[in-house]
Amino acid sequence: MESADQAYYDAIKAKFADERDLRLAYRPQGTAQYTSDFSGALAKYATDPHAEPAPDRAPIEDEVEVLFIGGGFSALLTAARMRERGVESIRIVERGADVGGTWYWNRYPGAACDVPAYDYLPLLDEMGYVPSRLYAKGPEIFAHCQAIAQRYGLYDLAVFRTTVIRTTWDTRARRWRIETDRGDRMTAKFVVCANGTLSKPKLSKIAGMEGFAGHSFHTSRWDYAYTGEELEKLEDKVVGIIGTGASAVQAIPRLARTAKALYVFQRTPSGIDIRGDRPTDPEWAGRLKPGWQQARRMKHIRGREVDAAKKAELAALSREEKIRRQENENIDHMMRIHARIDEVVQDPATAQSLKPWYMFMCKRPCFDDEYLPVYNRPNVHLVDTQGKGITQIAPEGPVFEDRAYPLDLLIYATGFEVQKTGIYNEIRGRDGREINETYASGMRTLFGVHTHGYPNLFIMGGYQASFQFNLTFMLQTQGDHIAECVKLARDGGHEEIDVKPETEEWWVQEVIAHRGKTSRNTDCTPGYYNFEGEFNRRQDGNYNGGFLQYYTHMQEIREDLASHFLFG
Ligand code: NDP
Repeated sequence: MESADQAYYDAIKAKFADERDLRLAYRPQGTAQYTSDFSGALAKYATDPHAEPAPDRAPIEDEVEVLFIGGGFSALLTAARMRERGVESIRIVERGADVGGTWYWNRYPGAACDVPAYDYLPLLDEMGYVPSRLYAKGPEIFAHCQAIAQRYGLYDLAVFRTTVIRTTWDTRARRWRIETDRGDRMTAKFVVCANGTLSKPKLSKIAGMEGFAGHSFHTSRWDYAYTGEELEKLEDKVVGIIGTGASAVQAIPRLARTAKALYVFQRTPSGIDIRGDRPTDPEWAGRLKPGWQQARRMKHIRGREVDAAKKAELAALSREEKIRRQENENIDHMMRIHARIDEVVQDPATAQSLKPWYMFMCKRPCFDDEYLPVYNRPNVHLVDTQGKGITQIAPEGPVFEDRAYPLDLLIYATGFEVQKTGIYNEIRGRDGREINETYASGMRTLFGVHTHGYPNLFIMGGYQASFQFNLTFMLQTQGDHIAECVKLARDGGHEEIDVKPETEEWWVQEVIAHRGKTSRNTDCTPGYYNFEGEFNRRQDGNYNGGFLQYYTHMQEIREDLASHFLFG
């Protein structure tokens, strides 16, 4: 019986491997299949549709104490902690025309958080705010960002529609010199790279895409002037969308409601789980006690208590058996996702096409109750490219298997470049070396935040940090830590704070020790989680020891913070 059961799991694992190999064979170029160089004919895909073109202004040439590159949640929640510690001179420099980051740019219809808002929206205690529903929608989250910036006085020195292009350590002055695309030459004592993990949109390089005759845009640059605020202008339009990741899964049900016809060009389906959204119960909200959000988040990361008998049973298993059990449970979960598709989607061939053949967490899981039923509508057509993707676009529309699909509007839901460091920005530290050159022989950081030789610089949301589905909790952990480091330097009257090489080395070894314990990354179907299947050194990725462990390490280091840094 045991072996028959295992044969079932092994057959599914083999199918997972086949589906991965098919995709790797189609795209051996890995991450190079995408471009985020939006110059020339692609420049329109980077334009901000939410603001008028930036008016001329005089270059800024002043000095602040703390400068944030980026004005999303990373900057907001860290700046709030610095304010609590008495830092007055704080500037946000942001590419968009307001704070909000992800929630400034991504205003596609249906945008909402995928983590319960009571956990996801930061600083709820401090702001005295309870989100209006379990999965707050984009506009409410954006408004929360603006409210934080108001409350903590972060608009006062903020500079919008400005992109930092160069950040250079001035050894003599012991200050960072910051240059922007608006000709600014600012100076700051501390710099926080708060430019986001997935902030630069990317496009799949598709032959002929520049020659498409219809209208087109990327999901993060939604053109409501074309679609109408309620998508009402799409009633006589044939719309296509390339990609079926988390952005597309939220936008597609709304597009389907109004578009004359909607073509979904799918390369790999997302796994769609139950959402169960609901408005906040006012009685529950009224009963919340101060500190409720932190308590809730901590309870979540500590997880369920495992009883002694279960612990003993697990301890007795071999490593192989543990992995096998985990994999089988993972497969059970994915087969439940498959069963839900069969229940909801009426056409069996379409249902089959929508089934994801990979382990849970190989790709970003999605939660939606409106996505799957969309495929029962007569105006929605799934074009299943079976792993191949769209490789050609004719003037009238995308081509698959020699058939062109004529479209009025083509939407690219093709995702974002994963932050290495800097993104639009070149960062030169004490010896003039660009930070990516320093990382060329392997990333070196403490917690993904500090790199030796780059004093007074803090990186948020980058590699060697932990991965946590509730990203804002991870960012808050980093923000609290950074605020403490700044306080330590200020209290001691120091001009410089730089991580000690030995502490950095300890963390690099921690990252290496926890990555590659299983073959999960290479077993997965390609996507941005595993660098599209490219080989990566163990240290050039996230810390995989678990978020609780990351959090605990940070608390431990904080107990004796000064001993891990050099001061000048
Ligand atoms: P993704 O990178 O997740 O998805 C890109 C999609 O484009 C994939 O389905 C990919 O297919 C597909 N694709 C790329 N090239 C082609 C092609 N030539 N033909 C057909 N399909 C193609 O981007 P998203 O913007 O959806 O999501 C990015 C991340 O942003 C999420 O993973 C999540 O972290 C975050 N996000 C969070 C949300 C939230 O919290 N509410 C909502 C939206 C996004 P393939 O899978 O085969 O590579």
